[in-house]
Amino acid sequence: MQMSDNFSPASFPSLEKALKHFFGYDDFRLNQRPVIEEVLKNQDVLVVMPTGGGKSLCYQLPALLKLGVTVVVSPLIALMQDQVEALQDNGISATFLNSSLNSEESRSRQEALMEGRIKLLYVAPERLLSETFSPFFQLLSEKVGLAAFAIDEAHCVSEWGHDFRPEYRQLDTLRRNYPNVPIVALTATATERVRQDIVHQLALRQPSVYVSSFNRQNLYYEVQPKGKQAYSQLLQTLKPFEGAGIIYCLSRRRVDELAFRLQQDGISALPYHAGLSDSERTQNQIRFIRDDVRVMVATIAFGMGIDKPDVRFVIHYDLPRNLESYYQESGRAGRDGEPAHCAIFFGYGDVATVDYLINQKPDPQEQRIARQQLRQMIDYAESTVCRRKIQLSYFGEEFPGQCNTCDNCVSPPPLEDWTIEAQKFLSCVARCRERFGMTHIIDVLRGSRKQKVIRLGHDQLSTYGIGKDKSIDEWRMLGRSLLHQGLVEETTDGYSVLKLNAGSWQVLKRQLSVQVAISDRLKGQSTPVETSSTEMSPEAMLLLGRLRSLRKRLADEQNIPPYIVFPEASLRLMAQQRPLTLDGFSRISGVGNRKLNQYGQIFTDEIQSFCQENGLPMEAEPLAREVAPLRSKTTPTNTHFVTLKLFEQGLTPSEIAAERDLRLGTIIDHLARLLEASHPIDLDRLVSTERQKTICQAIDKVGAGSLRTIREHLGDTYDYNEIRLVRALWEQDS
Ligand code: ADP
Ligand code: ZN
Repeated sequence: MQMSDNFSPASFPSLEKALKHFFGYDDFRLNQRPVIEEVLKNQDVLVVMPTGGGKSLCYQLPALLKLGVTVVVSPLIALMQDQVEALQDNGISATFLNSSLNSEESRSRQEALMEGRIKLLYVAPERLLSETFSPFFQLLSEKVGLAAFAIDEAHCVSEWGHDFRPEYRQLDTLRRNYPNVPIVALTATATERVRQDIVHQLALRQPSVYVSSFNRQNLYYEVQPKGKQAYSQLLQTLKPFEGAGIIYCLSRRRVDELAFRLQQDGISALPYHAGLSDSERTQNQIRFIRDDVRVMVATIAFGMGIDKPDVRFVIHYDLPRNLESYYQESGRAGRDGEPAHCAIFFGYGDVATVDYLINQKPDPQEQRIARQQLRQMIDYAESTVCRRKIQLSYFGEEFPGQCNTCDNCVSPPPLEDWTIEAQKFLSCVARCRERFGMTHIIDVLRGSRKQKVIRLGHDQLSTYGIGKDKSIDEWRMLGRSLLHQGLVEETTDGYSVLKLNAGSWQVLKRQLSVQVAISDRLKGQSTPVETSSTEMSPEAMLLLGRLRSLRKRLADEQNIPPYIVFPEASLRLMAQQRPLTLDGFSRISGVGNRKLNQYGQIFTDEIQSFCQENGLPMEAEPLAREVAPLRSKTTPTNTHFVTLKLFEQGLTPSEIAAERDLRLGTIIDHLARLLEASHPIDLDRLVSTERQKTICQAIDKVGAGSLRTIREHLGDTYDYNEIRLVRALWEQDS
C-alpha cells in the first residue's frame, strides 16, 4: 500500500476545503457530506436525491481523495462526454470509454488509466462487462486499484422503474469479481419498490440509504386553464422568462406545429421527438445545450435525452400523463438550483383526448390504472391547495403547505365553511358501505336516476338526493378538498374507492369544521407570477448580460456548453459582487482552483471594464483587500520537501520514486506543485529547453485548463509528465 498520493485526504484539513478546492463550492448540500464520509470508509451506499440534488459530487469528491480509480457506470453515452468535460474544466483527471471512441483513442485512454493518471473513469455497462474489456480491467484493479464503483441512474436495474435496462442486471458480477470495492448506487427514483430492487440486484452490503426530500425548492409551480387562444396565452407566458426552456406536447405533430409557429414569431425554437433522425435529434440537443437555441419543443416521451442544468422553464402545453411523470418532467427545470418556472396548460379538451386514448387500451386493468392516473392529474390541476403538498404527498412525503412558490400559495383562493356539505358527503360514503368511488357518491347525493344507483337500491338511502343544491363540480371540489386535507381516503388499486378515516368521523361527530377553498381558476383567471425570486439591481442585470456573452464566447472557443464554464449562480454572484481582484473572484461560489486560474483574469478584466464604462467604484471590495496568495494551490507539505531534497541531491524522478516506494506520477506531481509554489526546480534537467518552449507555445494556444487538450495539440511524442511540469512553470510565470 502506498503511503502517499497526489490527492491524499491529508492534503485537506477538511472536506469543505477539498470541496472549495476542486469544485469551488463553500458548503455541502443536504446528505452530500454523510454520503461522502461513508464512501471514504468504503461502505456501500444508496443515494436517493431528486434531480439537481447534487448526486455526482457524492462520488466525485471521494474519487479525488481516495487511492485508485473510481469507476462510474452510466447508461447515457451522450452525457458522459459533458460530465467528463465538466470535470476536466475543474482540473480533474477524468475520462470515458464507450462505443463512440475509435480504437486509438481507447488505447491511449487505457494507457493513461494504467499509469494511474486518471481518477474517474466513466463507462457504459455493456463495455465494463464485456469479455474483451475484462482482462484490462482486472489488470487495472491490480496495478492501480479501484477506489469505488458508482452506479448512476441505478433504477435502470429495476423492472419496476420507468427506465429498465437489461444490461444493468449483469452489474451484480461487479460485486462477485471485486468483493472489496465499495459500491455507491445513485438514483432520482422516488418509489420504495425500486429502491429495494436496487439494493437486491446490485448485491449491496448493508448499505446506508440516504433519501433526500423530493421538494424542489427553487421551482415555481402553476396551472393555467387552457383557453381558446392557447397559443397567444403561451406567448404571453413565455414573455417574462429569461434563458432556455422546454415545452412539452402530446404528439409529434403538435411538436412540429408549435416549433414552427414559435419560429415564425421570432422565438428560437427547435423540435425534439422520436420522428427525427438520431443525428437531427443530437444536433438539436447540442444547439439547445450550447444556448444557440432557446426553446426545445418536445414530446413527453422524449424528455429523457434533454439534459441541461440551466433550463429556466418547463411548460406542459398538453396534459402530462400522470403525477409521477409530471414531477420528473417539470423537474428538468432548474437543476442548477436557480429559480425556474413550471406550468401546465390545462384544458378539458386534452382530458377528452387522453380519455379516448385510454379507451383504446385492450387490457381493462391497464385502463383502470390509466384512468386513475388521469383522475389524479386532473385533481392536481383543479386543486386549490399547495401544489407542492400534493406532489410530495404522492411520494409519501408530508409537506405542511404554504410553500410561497406555487400559484395556490401566492394567491390563495377564498375559503368557505362547508362543514354541513362535508357531513352529507361523508355520511353518504358510510351509507354506501365504503365500497364506491366519488362519481357514484355524487350521483347518490344528487339523486341521480342512473341504472347503477337504482340497481343497487341506493335510491333508498337516507342520503339519496340530499345534495341537489350543489353541482357535480362543486361536490367534486369538496371531495378532492377532503382528500387533500386527509379527511377521507381513496384506495390506490385502480378503483379509487372512498374510505372513511379517523378525521372523517371527527367531521361526522361535529368535532371538526371543514373549510374549502373556492377555486376561481377554472373560470379562466390565472395568476401573474414573478420569474425570478432573486432581486438584482439594474447594473447587476447589465453586467450579468455581459458576463453571459463572455461565458458563451469562452465556451464556443473550447467547444463546450456554457454552463460548464460557470453555472448561472456563479455568474449572478459575480454580477452582484463585482470582484475586481483574483482573490475576490476566488470567493465566488463555483470558483475552484482550476477555474480561478483559467478564467479569473479574463472575468475580472471584463468586470473592471464594465465598472469603468459605467462609472462604478473601482476599488476592490473590502473582503478582497487582504493579499492572498495568487494561486491557492495546496501548499507543499513534508512529503513534497522530501522529494525536493532528493531531487537536489541529483536523483532523477524515477530514482526518487524507487527510493521512496512511490509511483513516478506522484513524484512528478510533487515537483509540479513545488514549481507552482515557486520553489526553484531546475526543470532543464528533466525537459530540454526546446521541448519546454514548444509546450509553452501549446499552452499559450489552447490554455492551461486541460492536460489532455494540451497533449492532443502536441501529439503523442510528448508525455503527460513533461507537460505537467512545464505547465507548472508556465503558471508560475504568467
Ligand atoms: P443530479 O445528478 O443529482 O441531478 P448534479 O450532480 O448534476 O445533480 O448537481 C446539480 C447541480 O448542483 C450542478 O450544477 C452542481 O454543480 C451543483 N452542486 C452540487 N453540489 C453542490 C454544492 N455543494 N454547492 C453548490 N452547488 C452544488
Ligand atoms: Zn404552495
